[in-house]
Order: sequence, then C-alpha cells, then structure tokens
Amino acid sequence: MKIFYRTKELIDALHGEKSVGFVPTMGALHLGHMSLIRASKSQNTLTVCSIFVNPLQFNNLTDFEKYPKTLSNDILLLESENCDILFAPEYNQIYTQTSATTIDFGYQNTILEGRYRQGHFNGVGIVVSKLFNIVKPNIAYFGQKDFQQCLIIKQLIQDLSFPIRLQIVPTIRENDGLAMSSRNVHLNIDDRKTAANIYKGLQSAQTLATQSTISEIKGNISQDLSAKNIQVEYADILDYETGTLCTTLEIKGKYVLCIAAYIGKVRLIDNIVFNL
Ligand code: AMP
Repeated sequence: MKIFYRTKELIDALHGEKSVGFVPTMGALHLGHMSLIRASKSQNTLTVCSIFVNPLQFNNLTDFEKYPKTLSNDILLLESENCDILFAPEYNQIYTQTSATTIDFGYQNTILEGRYRQGHFNGVGIVVSKLFNIVKPNIAYFGQKDFQQCLIIKQLIQDLSFPIRLQIVPTIRENDGLAMSSRNVHLNIDDRKTAANIYKGLQSAQTLATQSTISEIKGNISQDLSAKNIQVEYADILDYETGTLCTTLEIKGKYVLCIAAYIGKVRLIDNIVFNL
C-alpha cells in the first residue's frame, strides 16, 4: 500500500486513474471500515482510503481531542485488505487558509444529528467536498451506520454535481449486536455490556412497528433503554427514501429508526431499517 501525507503528491499519483473507489474515514479503523474497503476493492481497480480527523465536524472540543488515533494499527489493517492507497494528511494539507464557505443542508440540519450536533454536517460537507476534489473518485463508500450522513452526502453529490456514485454499505456489528464504532473504545467493561442493549432496543422496536404508533415506539424504546442506564437523546423514524421524519407508518413503507444515546459520557448512534 502506498501512503501519502501530502495532497499534491496524492493528486499526482491519481492523475489519469479511471476506476477509483474512495473510503473516507477518521481512522481508529475496525471491521466496519474494512467492509467499505472490501466493497470498493470489488468494484474498482484502485481503492483509496483517507484518514483525517476533521476538527470542523466536531461540535465538542473534548470529543475531538479524545478521538482515538491508532495510525500504525490502521495501516496494518488496510494492508491486510490490500487497500491500494492511504491518504493521511496533516491539518494544513486540508485546511490551507481560513475558509469562509459553509454548507447548510436545510431540513437535515434541523433533525437528528443536524439538530443535536450544530455545525456537524457543515464540517462533514466541507471536508468530504475537499476530499472528493482531491481524490476524484468514481464511487464513494459510506456506512449505513451513519444513515443521515449518507443522506447529506447524496444531497451534496446532487447539489454540487460531483460526478461520483454513492454506495451505502450495511452496518457491521459485534457478536452481541453493538454497531462497531471507533468510539466504542471509550466504553468501560460494564458500559460495553450495557451498550449491546441499543441494538436489542432497535430490534424490539422494529417488531412493535407493525402494531404501534410512532409515539408508542419512541416512548417504548426510550423507557426500555433508560431502565438499562442508557439515556436516549433521540429515537426517530425517517422515511428511508425521502429522509424525512415520519408521523405515521404505512403498509409497504420502508423506514429507518435512528437513535442517539448516551452511556455515561459516551454518545453512540445506530439505526435499523425495516419494511412494513
Ligand atoms: P468514521 O471513521 O467513523 O468517520 O467512519 C468512516 C466510514 O465508515 C463512514 O462512512 C461510516 O459510516 C463507516 N462505518 C463506521 N462504522 C461502521 C460499521 N460498523 N459498519 C459499516 N460502516 C461503518
């Protein structure tokens, strides 16, 4: 695997490449990220992974400072998947001067992550646009675990006419159902066990969905998780296709129940897709 730390060197190396798959990450890589790399390897002749902990998308300074950094292990994992190129730029390779442009994703900024993490999607939109312009991929791979992020990337690609296809990759989970996440390392042993209840809660909610109202489903999952020491920040159901908040569920609909919850100080997100 070739590793580039400088933007210009990466641009030169990719010049003329016709089939580039791109997996943007913030590092602390795990098997969830590897499934994106595998998807890209299967569809492109060249796969580029980027590792950049983007300060602009953190609405909480401590969260940014505490974000796990495991570059040497990340390199080993990427090599084991035969990733072709790693782009691991320093801050000043991405943010060369004080930038003034912001991206407002409108409706998505007012719900779920957009609502509770002010400025987060602006930061994601800016860094992903920069990385798209640097890597110029044919296909970009994003995880369904960050469902709303997939929605704003789809919007970004459409609105700014990036000639890029978005490929959404299913969530990879630990054996007990917990969605793999770089933030899971912050959980102590007890909290790690508790965390498995988030996905169990999502599964029970999915079962309830055929015979309950949305407010019953939301109330149920919040109560259920709170009894297990998990504080739900939001549990909301979106229409899978339009990405809008639902107030009622209809037969033949495709939905995604998204959740953000705190276990102690650790904030985790997850979701489950279901059809009625
Ligand atoms: P991150 O490094 O957390 O910014 O994640 C980089 C990419 O990996 C994003 O597109 C995530 O949605 C995706 N991702 C993170 N965790 C998982 C997982 N457990 N399964 C699949 N994709 C994931």
